[in-house]
Amino acid sequence: MRNYNFSAGPSMLPLEVLEQVQKELLDFNGTGMSVMEMSHRSKPYEAINAEAESLLRSLMNIPDNYEVIFVQGGASMQFEAIPLNLNAKKADYVLTGNFASKAFEEAKKFADVVAAASSKDKNYTYIPTLNAKCFRQDADYVHICYNNTIFGTRYTSVPDTGKIPLVADISSCILSEEIDVSKFGVLYAGAQKNVGPAGVTIVIVRKDLSDIASPSCPTMLKWITQIKEKSLYNTPPSFSTYVSMLVFRWLTKLGGVKAIQKINEEKAAMLYDFIDNSDFYINKTNKPDRSIMNIPFVTSSEQLDNQFISEAAKEGFLTLKGHKLVGGMRASIYNAMPVEGIKKLIEFMKNPVVGDIF
Ligand code: PLP
Repeated sequence: MRNYNFSAGPSMLPLEVLEQVQKELLDFNGTGMSVMEMSHRSKPYEAINAEAESLLRSLMNIPDNYEVIFVQGGASMQFEAIPLNLNAKKADYVLTGNFASKAFEEAKKFADVVAAASSKDKNYTYIPTLNAKCFRQDADYVHICYNNTIFGTRYTSVPDTGKIPLVADISSCILSEEIDVSKFGVLYAGAQKNVGPAGVTIVIVRKDLSDIASPSCPTMLKWITQIKEKSLYNTPPSFSTYVSMLVFRWLTKLGGVKAIQKINEEKAAMLYDFIDNSDFYINKTNKPDRSIMNIPFVTSSEQLDNQFISEAAKEGFLTLKGHKLVGGMRASIYNAMPVEGIKKLIEFMKNPVVGDIF
């Protein structure tokens, strides 16, 4: 039996994709072996690698003047790869949560880095208002985290940074909504939420920024190393890339990002409406900045929160515990979470526990 998994990541994959993986696990396409046993220099694997890139390019409408690479190390490794690859002397960061702050701390090791804006004053429950004047005009780049996985906020428009390249962590919103790639210098995301299994990380970089790394940047951190070798410089996370490619096929068949965005907005609206109209659950984020991927909520006490989480798990609603920085609950409702999962969660939330406590 499959449960509804509300984990912030790794998270649910589409059932159809998992079934395809199961079907091909022992014999991929007549090769007599699994993709995980296959040389990354073989023709079948090169085809998987090429299809993954080409499907991602069309799903995200990535212009030709951008490079796309699949690398290892997670989004976290890009926190240090970014200042080194952009050979930054100065960089401005917008602090909207835990991951934005981690990226900021890493960049400080390599450049003169400042927090151009922050929402820490209200425990990251909102996105600061930004305009080109917020940033140092001689900054080499501006960094933002587009969707804040822990705090449940997201940008609803791309900030204007003038001529300064904008770098965005899109780990928890990639492929969930349409995004104009041409407004960014660099986009990056770990796969384990909307793309595929953990292990592969996507970096999308404008060509003029792709080969300006600091001479001291380690070979494996340099984007150009993988760009030149089509992400096959060394042994890639091949199985993760293969499953990601199947997810890209699934999403393409479903109608692409535009189609999934509509479904995601409907799913999120259902849950927010229910929470807002209840006198039992509270979502503390600023309404215009609410994430459609990660929805944190609390009851009136920690004891009730804990009871809710354990009762929910008994009913097959898993991993609803909020991050320790926020507490309470968090429903992460990425692309693969079916609408049915949200409807059933809401039904459960109406009457979570039979007993005196509620
Ligand atoms: N950035 C965001 C927005 C995230 O949500 C996460 C993980 O949850 C990370 C970065 C860290 O990603 P990784 O574990 O792939 O390094």
